[in-house]
Amino acid sequence: MQHLSKLPDVSTTIFTIMSGLANEHRALNLSQGFPNYPSSKKLNNLVTNAMNNGYNQYAPMAGNLDLLLAISNKYQLLYESTYHPEKEITVTAGATQAIYTIVSAFIRPNDEVLIFKPAYDCYEPAVEVNGGKTIPIQLFAPDYKVDWSEVASKISSRTKMVMINSPHNPSGTIWSKDDMLQLQKLTKGTNIIVLSDEVYEHIVFDGEQHQSACLFEDLKQRSFITASFGKTFHNTGWKIGYCCAPDYLMSEFRKVHQFNVFSVHHPAQKGIADYMLDAETYLGLNSFFQQKRDLFLSLISESRFKFKPSKGTYFQVLDYSEITDKYDVDFAKQLTKDFGIASIPLSVFNENDKDDKVLRFCFAKTDDTLVKAAEILNRI
Ligand code: PMP
Ligand code: GLN
Repeated sequence: MQHLSKLPDVSTTIFTIMSGLANEHRALNLSQGFPNYPSSKKLNNLVTNAMNNGYNQYAPMAGNLDLLLAISNKYQLLYESTYHPEKEITVTAGATQAIYTIVSAFIRPNDEVLIFKPAYDCYEPAVEVNGGKTIPIQLFAPDYKVDWSEVASKISSRTKMVMINSPHNPSGTIWSKDDMLQLQKLTKGTNIIVLSDEVYEHIVFDGEQHQSACLFEDLKQRSFITASFGKTFHNTGWKIGYCCAPDYLMSEFRKVHQFNVFSVHHPAQKGIADYMLDAETYLGLNSFFQQKRDLFLSLISESRFKFKPSKGTYFQVLDYSEITDKYDVDFAKQLTKDFGIASIPLSVFNENDKDDKVLRFCFAKTDDTLVKAAEILNRI
């Protein structure tokens, strides 16, 4: 029997494709975004302790209370912003589930959702499967700056949500305070919900400040912030994240969440809560990754790739237009098969597969891997 697909245009994600190809060809895998060094021993031990101390049954639906408190304290410490630990924060199975559940809780058929392209790959399918319609706003390499008059022209009475993402995957750009003020102004007095995907909030370089949606009091009142411990604590495989939002939004989120996953891995939540008692565990991330970015870029400065240093995330975009005019997906595959290095082509995140001849490389890797990667890139 055949069923009409709800997602006819969706196939295997580029991350799965490129990681698969990297494994097949034993290539250095700088494609899918994950570290190739171990998760912290201290954190692993804290999770093990939690298991040995009885945290093995269902966590409360919204999350382990110690973790909710740790998250709430973090917002106070970093942004002087208050989220009620029991009412305004929910722990999720990664940011992906938070995003999907937010969309499911609010998007009805034909509701419009503004997304900026290149866009992380889980945004559009979440909207579509819920019957919504994405309205794309294409940004342009190399700066991916937002034209706010274009955004204004795309907002209408049908706009239910705007999805934003800073620091931005895949471009490695960040939004300025002015960008956030523009968004706040454009959505002021509307019922538009802002989904601010801040999974890379602790990875911002060159002394810049992360402009969290919670810093803008009016914007905060209609925003969900999504976050991922996988990104922050170097363990993407644990799939633990959270979201926060004002009470009136979070209570709707939880109506879906409690039937979607109900609650997530309890010992990991308790372990992370104990780990976060030391704020250095997340505050140290900027300099940790800036050292890696700087190492990688200094090693490839003489290569034929052109770049603007990443401003945030653990991704660096490289422009290969001086090397070839091949389609970026083909070139990424060729580099994997023939040169032994895997990356992510950006066109797959763009409107109509717009090809700017740029590839994304993940530098959440050991220095040794970055040195090997640079040796390859310098030969191309
Ligand atoms: N948003 C962005 C921008 C991402 O890069 C990722 C991948 N980490 C996610 C959401 C999903 O995060 P998680 O792995 O916690 O589901
Ligand atoms: N967030 C990861 C990246 O951008 C991919 C996660 C996944 O494979 N879905 O590389």
